[in-house]
Amino acid sequence: DTIGRNLDRAVETFGDREALVDVVSGRRWTYTEFGAAVDELARALMASGVAKGDRVGIWAINCPEWVLVQYATARIGAIMVNINPAYRAHELEYVLKQAGISLLVSSLAHRTSDYRALVGQVRADCPALRAVHYIGDPSWDELLATAGSVTPEQLAAREAELSCDDPINIQYTSGTTGFPKGATLSHHNILNNGYFVGELVGYTEADRVCLPVPFYHCFGMVMGNLGITSHGACIVIPAPAFEAAAVLTAVQQERCTSLYGVPTMFIAELNLPDFASYDLSSLRTGIMAGSPCPVEVMKRVVAEMHMDEVSICYGMTETSPVSTQTRRDDDLERRTGTVGRVMPHIEVKVVDPVTGVTTERGTAGELCTRGYSVMLGYWEQPERTAEAIDAGRWMHTGDLAVMREDGYVQIVGRIKDMIIRGGENVYPREIEEFLYGHPKIADVQVVGVPDDTYGEEILACVIPRSPADPPTLDEVTDYCREQLAHYKVPRRLRILEDFPMTVSGKVRKIELREGYGQ
Ligand code: ATP
Ligand code: MG
Repeated sequence: DTIGRNLDRAVETFGDREALVDVVSGRRWTYTEFGAAVDELARALMASGVAKGDRVGIWAINCPEWVLVQYATARIGAIMVNINPAYRAHELEYVLKQAGISLLVSSLAHRTSDYRALVGQVRADCPALRAVHYIGDPSWDELLATAGSVTPEQLAAREAELSCDDPINIQYTSGTTGFPKGATLSHHNILNNGYFVGELVGYTEADRVCLPVPFYHCFGMVMGNLGITSHGACIVIPAPAFEAAAVLTAVQQERCTSLYGVPTMFIAELNLPDFASYDLSSLRTGIMAGSPCPVEVMKRVVAEMHMDEVSICYGMTETSPVSTQTRRDDDLERRTGTVGRVMPHIEVKVVDPVTGVTTERGTAGELCTRGYSVMLGYWEQPERTAEAIDAGRWMHTGDLAVMREDGYVQIVGRIKDMIIRGGENVYPREIEEFLYGHPKIADVQVVGVPDDTYGEEILACVIPRSPADPPTLDEVTDYCREQLAHYKVPRRLRILEDFPMTVSGKVRKIELREGYGQ
């Protein structure tokens, strides 16, 4: 069904239960209050002329208004366009123009981003952009003040025109492997996916979910917001952007039962000097996704954060996002060694990337998915859509995976990241996982760099545990030689203080490769 009608049912069923809490400001909404706030904003957007199918941009850090915009735009059939809060002026301008955004909701400023100043730089070049409203500014109140000129009946009439297959969201991919693409998604795509993610985690109205992941990304707005509200649970916003201490404080104060994050976030939380002083005993579950989780980290998340049922999800923006997920009773082996098994109502196959033939179980190939979750297409990029989705409606993920005998899927890397050294296929993940055990290595990324002899050579990029005592190349190669085949041993080493990251918390390997040798 549509997101608006689903929200109506949640309000009816869970009325006085809490729907949304903003820890920093102390503001709270029950389902009844949340539904009313969404309707007020929806009427205000209609009053300012937003028609069905119009693009409304949201360029903001995490805050309750972000969530209101998500539901209010869906309620009136507008297409919300998520804009990465880390963007600079030229990237903002690209998205404003590419998606044809007519109304933009933005934050005022956060950390190094002065959003109002950046909008000011590009606005004159974006003629389609009619209005900009800043959250926490008089321009936001002015928007809300117009709500009175649209009646609840007019809002209901608009809702009656909507179909669950209408596009309502454009999400740009993370840009890990190149320039982001605008995946266009329907109510049916993302509401179903959020619902099933919540179902497999086992959410009920007793759950309170701490969300430190950016709302702009599907992890926050689908697996988070939609997954939570479709089961009557409560969204807890710990801070406008990720801060490890704020996350643990929020879990403790709000007695959260569930916590989301990419592996790097959990690592930062576990590494807080006062980690042991937080009471995290309310936690039972959570979701880790986005990139592979080192085994040692998972063990600590289960043992020290009490997240015995933590779920691993695999997916991508283009598939709404989740395609595979671990189940509540899976053991540690499945939760560390796999990304779970296929979600309800979705198909998955693994094919030889060259021939397209389905591989034997246990053999690596490209993961393809099909089902309700596959996006409508890339916004106004039909050629790129045709490259990604084949005639049989299979989405080609670009990820290398193995389907095990037990139906559980392992992600072994990305086709773009696979290193071909002297004709041998090398999966960086395997070497990273191994090097993670070296006593002098805090974090590691492995990439291929051009080489005259072997075509590609293996480069290990290392963040040392102690900056004063980084490992030497000999130490790294000696360590690997004992356990890895010779062609997998890194022959080059780069010591770094940190890795270039996307806002969704993924390492941009492309930059590690490009930065080498400069
Ligand atoms: P772009 O497509 O713009 O290069 P991106 O692929 O990183 O960026 P997203 O859609 O945010 O953008 O991420 C999806 C990708 O994240 C998947 O294709 C996969 O490579 C990776 N991924 C997601 N979940 C997991 C997981 N649990 N384990 C390993 N990798 C994962
Ligand atoms: Mg991608």
